Amino acid sequence: MEMREKSHCLVLFYPSQGHINPLLQFSKRLEHKGLKVTFITTRSVLKAMHGGGGGGGQSPSSFSSIALETISDGYDEGGASQAESIEAYLDRFREIGSQTLAELIEEISGSGHPADCLVYDSCMSWALDVAKRVGIAGAAFFTFSCAVTNIYSLVQNGLLKVPLNPGSEILLPGLPPLQPSDTPSFVYDSGSYPAFFKLILDQFSNLDKADWVLCNTFHELEQEAVDRMAKFWPLRTIGPTIPSMYLDKRHEDNNEYGLSLLKLNSDACMKWLNAKPKGSVAYMSFGSMAELEEEQMEELGLGLRRSKRYFLWVVRTSESVKLPKGFAEETSEKGLVVSWCPQLEVLAHEAVGCFVTHCGWNSTLEALSLGVPMVAVPQWADQSTNAKFIMDVWKIGLKAQADEKGIVRGEEIAHCVREILDGERGEEIRKNASKWKALAKNAVDEGGSSDKNIDEFIAKLVLS
Ligand code: UDP
Repeated sequence: MEMREKSHCLVLFYPSQGHINPLLQFSKRLEHKGLKVTFITTRSVLKAMHGGGGGGGQSPSSFSSIALETISDGYDEGGASQAESIEAYLDRFREIGSQTLAELIEEISGSGHPADCLVYDSCMSWALDVAKRVGIAGAAFFTFSCAVTNIYSLVQNGLLKVPLNPGSEILLPGLPPLQPSDTPSFVYDSGSYPAFFKLILDQFSNLDKADWVLCNTFHELEQEAVDRMAKFWPLRTIGPTIPSMYLDKRHEDNNEYGLSLLKLNSDACMKWLNAKPKGSVAYMSFGSMAELEEEQMEELGLGLRRSKRYFLWVVRTSESVKLPKGFAEETSEKGLVVSWCPQLEVLAHEAVGCFVTHCGWNSTLEALSLGVPMVAVPQWADQSTNAKFIMDVWKIGLKAQADEKGIVRGEEIAHCVREILDGERGEEIRKNASKWKALAKNAVDEGGSSDKNIDEFIAKLVLS
């Protein structure tokens, strides 16, 4: 009898840092479980990976034996930064991306190992149309929490009407009561982000055609939201997509977390952290996209100084002109400022006692999975919703309160950092953080809820 070849999964990600890591980790997991995986990116991201435009200088081989192919977003030299607006970028990406993706799948089909399934970032709903046109299975991959995906779906089907009524309490199925400001900014301030508002609604426009809906979360974390969504779509939780090495140091085969589009300052960070006592450092980072006001940066610096605790602060090169006086060259015993760090390694370091974060979903899941309590300072997108869950649902952090101008003052930052590192509430928060860390590990360990879902996904692909 002729042996069937391994199933072949194509994984297409949206070209921004927060979307790369979860899809790349998921790809590694599939490959580890015996699938052939081809990771698809845009030509502009490939350029950044090779060090162009200040990129991370990583080569495709730095992420194991997964094959790498490219499509075009219509801006091969610089990606979105080349487009005159985000609307123009997304429109051209849809058109040129659909065309080049179809061509690539055809080419792969002719190469002797045709693709069985396309896993695509939910932000690129057009990719599902391509998969269906060429006759392969399609799996939408949501890189947000299930709670946030739920909110977006409720807006899309008209059950949550925008604009929201400013004073109202929002009661939604599967979610705790929310204030309008707890919803994603693309919802409560939808008028300010027309292109992103369209993008989030588009994710659901053809979702009924998807063979799978994968969500980077785990069932125990968002049970109600997951169960609600699973009534409408073939939803499976497959997260957290964090390499087992960090959850269980015995696994050494998986030692690259993701793919960094920015240059890492690994050695400096780890050396500095190695010299600090356990649980003594506040790590602060606002991810790959947030652009803070200068006044806010000033207050963050003030807060770190006032806390009188050790701090490691990531300020991207593009934001560094806003650094408060005295921080640009900070490499003292007390604090270190770097332009980018290996975040997962930093969070896994025992010196780190709290994470002052913008609450991007990856940062939130990473800290939760490593048991690091958070000080939530959300900026935009889904971050306010994540902050709400961090403080009031999972109880693994404090949300720093902003003043009437929307600025979180230094005193508040210092207070939250001290409270978590050595205050009374810190103790309770640390206990909860340890509990969630263990649950996250259980979910991805063999036989855990996410692991079983991944096995089921693979088993059906193999049978198809
Ligand atoms: N990250 C990193 N080094 C840093 C800061 C962030 O590697 O100095 C990674 C982080 O681990 C996460 C991603 O960048 O995987 C940021 O994603 P997130 O969803 O938290 O925020 P976004 O950048 O999308 O706003």
